[in-house]
Amino acid sequence: MKLLDYFQKLTQIPHCSHHSEKLKLFLTDFVKARGYQVKSDSAGNIIAFKGSPKLSLQAHYDMVCVGKAPEIETFTEDGWLYARDSSLGADNGIAIAMMMVLMDDGKECEYLFTADEEVGLIGANALSFPLQSSYMLNLDSEDEAEVYIGCAGGVDIFAQKSYETLSCEKDFYEITVSGLPGGHSGVEIHKNIPNAIKLFAEFCQKHDCLVASLEGGERINSIPVQCRAIVACEKVPESQPHIDVKKIFRKFSVVQHTHEIIDLLCKFPHGVLAWNDKLAIPDQSVNLATVAVKNGICDIAVSARAMDDAGLQKVETEIADLFTLYGYDVKSEGKYSAWKPEVNDFSEIVCEKMEEVFGACHYRAIHAGLECAVLSSLYPDMKIASIGPNIRSPHSSHEKVEIASVTKTYEVVKKIVDALC
Ligand SMILES: [Zn+2]
Repeated sequence: MKLLDYFQKLTQIPHCSHHSEKLKLFLTDFVKARGYQVKSDSAGNIIAFKGSPKLSLQAHYDMVCVGKAPEIETFTEDGWLYARDSSLGADNGIAIAMMMVLMDDGKECEYLFTADEEVGLIGANALSFPLQSSYMLNLDSEDEAEVYIGCAGGVDIFAQKSYETLSCEKDFYEITVSGLPGGHSGVEIHKNIPNAIKLFAEFCQKHDCLVASLEGGERINSIPVQCRAIVACEKVPESQPHIDVKKIFRKFSVVQHTHEIIDLLCKFPHGVLAWNDKLAIPDQSVNLATVAVKNGICDIAVSARAMDDAGLQKVETEIADLFTLYGYDVKSEGKYSAWKPEVNDFSEIVCEKMEEVFGACHYRAIHAGLECAVLSSLYPDMKIASIGPNIRSPHSSHEKVEIASVTKTYEVVKKIVDALC
């Protein structure tokens, strides 16, 4: 099958995020050879078009390289395509292959290939091509028979405060919180996954400890798995599940007003703040992501998400107010708009074609940021939907794509193209 042959070809051209120059050249040559006009920009985005298109097809052409990638050796098992000891790059290479087949057939669409999606939507954020289409089909979803029509917006919030430290003659202990499952700060925030920072704060409050140093959480978009602290306590704190206590035979200086930090961390409303019944996903949420106390300076980072911009503003203000109440300096960074879920004439066409092929179609929205959110704010008049074949465990060496699902999803894409181009 031509589509899979093209995909196979793509796996042999290195295109890890930040290192996708070779694939950029390949795609540029490919579209030129088929008579499409092509433009690219300094961020590495590519647009190809012919005629006066009404539909834009969009995919990102970088991939997350795990294991041996970019050296990729594919194999099939039980109807799924895998890579041996590496990520496969079906996210989003399968979509690129679909677009290549459509260009072979000379379909008059706009073909938008964005760069470095996997490392912070870099390409999409730098996009400035004027687009002619009124509809955009993003091909970066990972569930057949589902049409994505919206996603959350988000903002990262950082808070900092300096505290007096003083020497302390109590006994010191190293407290380690570990062995928690962790998870994505958006799509898994409603699963009540324990937060390592919260567990530590509750433990510290219970045992009336003073903090000398503290480091918890891994990154802004994940639920903290670990927390490590050096504390001084009146009585010996006991280990408990996931919390290990080790006595240290040294003295440190401690934060005088430790109780204020601990009180803030205990009260912080980590998790779902509002639920969206219609979409059956969180509507507003916040993740207490990282905390560090070093030399008396406390730094806290959190990520907030919401399914519409008014909700996002509300969460951002509430969290900033909470920090301010405790005397922290607060700043926000990296704010991006939500792609507000909406069923419109375009999503209806997509769903109708989906139903013709799969016998079913469901509208979905996701409580995480997608490229579509950036694209919908850049092109506010464009109607956008997102689909894709079954892909499991992307961004890992277990990544796999279901071959029958690729064939059927391509059929859907072709029907949409034929209806609109
Ligand atoms: Zn992707």
